[in-house]
Amino acid sequence: MSAHVAESDISIQIEHKQAEAPLVDLMGGAARWDVRIHDHGLIGLVDVMPRLVPQGQTADQAIVQAARVSYGAGTKRVNEDRGLIRYLMRHRHTTPFEMVELKFHCAMPIFVARQWIRHRTANVNEYSARYSVMPDRFYRPGIENVRQQSSVNRQGGEEPIDVGTAEDYLAYLEEAEQNYARYLDLTERGVARELARIALPQSVYTEWYWKCDLHNTLRFLSLRMDAHAQREIRDFANAMYALIEPIVPVTLEAFRDYELDSMRLTKLEIEAIRTGAAEISAENKREQAEWQAKRMKLGLADSE
Ligand SMILES: Cc1cc2nc3c(=O)[nH]c(=O)nc-3n(C[C@H](O)[C@H](O)[C@H](O)COP(=O)(O)OP(=O)(O)OC[C@H]3O[C@@H](n4cnc5c(N)ncnc54)[C@H](O)[C@@H]3O)c2cc1C
Repeated sequence: MSAHVAESDISIQIEHKQAEAPLVDLMGGAARWDVRIHDHGLIGLVDVMPRLVPQGQTADQAIVQAARVSYGAGTKRVNEDRGLIRYLMRHRHTTPFEMVELKFHCAMPIFVARQWIRHRTANVNEYSARYSVMPDRFYRPGIENVRQQSSVNRQGGEEPIDVGTAEDYLAYLEEAEQNYARYLDLTERGVARELARIALPQSVYTEWYWKCDLHNTLRFLSLRMDAHAQREIRDFANAMYALIEPIVPVTLEAFRDYELDSMRLTKLEIEAIRTGAAEISAENKREQAEWQAKRMKLGLADSE
């Protein structure tokens, strides 16, 4: 096949090379893979790159292919590919993981979207509440998931609150949702949608397309699947993990082993392990508490 470049007499020859094996669709021909979350939440895997891969392979092969540019072709046995991916993950050689792209369609309450949007390396296109009317969709946790403020973690809570207070809380959300009828009425009477929306609560749902490379998606998952993340965004992150696991299974296994289920030790903590000390030489109470949690995880102390 040849193409002619405008205002040039260079003729470009394009060679179409056959794949080493028949190409198959990693998403099995589906338009998308959807997971429903909470009452109206959604995370749908819409597309991946690479999507067509040689039969018997996954998108992990794009990572191996890119890495072999730096390390040389070598042999291509499956167990060696796995070893290479695990090496790259352990040594934070990150750019090969950027060769895989993932595109999601997500619907989430605005308070979740505000946390999510802080991950700046994604490409995002969001529903415009200036252009269109916000749909009547609000997040309400189940009564068993109305949590009390933690006394140790100022950013959140995990324990359920008593039923009476939980019921009051749900009534408070319901009242806030009642603003929706006034919102609709005011838009119908001609108030600009960009102004009418501003009294809607943060529990109202928005939606967006979110496209990100695998490396930065894993950074997102590492922070948002963590126990310190708010439970609502954690639910979305866990669903995202489940959606991409069949796309890059070897990478996600390495991610679990070397990131998600791993632990970082500080210099003071290493010193404490070396000397067998129960405490670290830091005055900071929070740092001490973090060390005690790690000791328990390591089996160096009994859990309470
Ligand atoms: C449990 C938890 C609590 C949090 N609490 C708060 C809070 O109280 N207040 C608050 O404001 N935020 C809070 N955050 C948000 C947090 O500070 C980060 O903004 C968010 O997690 C995104 O992380 P990131 O910057 O690594 O991600 P990304 O924005 O995706 O960045 C990924 C990597 O790219 C780099 N990068 C991104 N953009 C650029 C750029 N323009 N130039 C150079 N490098 C770039 C980053 O340094 C990072 O290494 C919290 C996050 C978590 C998980």
